[in-house]
Amino acid sequence: MAEFNMDDMFDKIKTSAAKVSREAERLTKSAASKVESKTQEAKLKYAIRELEDKMRACYAAIGEAVYESFRNSEEPGDFSEMFGRLDALREEADEIKEQLAAVSGCVVCPECGAGVSAEDAFCSKCGANIKKDE
Ligand SMILES: [Zn+2]
Repeated sequence: MAEFNMDDMFDKIKTSAAKVSREAERLTKSAASKVESKTQEAKLKYAIRELEDKMRACYAAIGEAVYESFRNSEEPGDFSEMFGRLDALREEADEIKEQLAAVSGCVVCPECGAGVSAEDAFCSKCGANIKKDE
């Protein structure tokens, strides 16, 4: 009859305990990365909202200037600087939208810029074919 070995017993317990803690660590890590991407998503959404607010402020400033010149029967001034600023804001917003789409597992519709599930073939907003490249 094999002699009961206390050391073997402890080794077995240690090994299975290590397995359990590795598994727990793995689960914790995947949960953490999910939380991280949610946080990242919220940050990006906030950044987009901020950019859209700035764009709205630009539109309002342009509209106000156009109206003022109309009221004073003047030629509207040069808005190229404003338009340049709007272009830059729009580009920045588009870039962030792409990042957001990557983080949330979506693709950005090439037609309307809406976030669409990567599994969809067509945009849910405008109906554009999203997978036409494939
Ligand atoms: Zn679309």
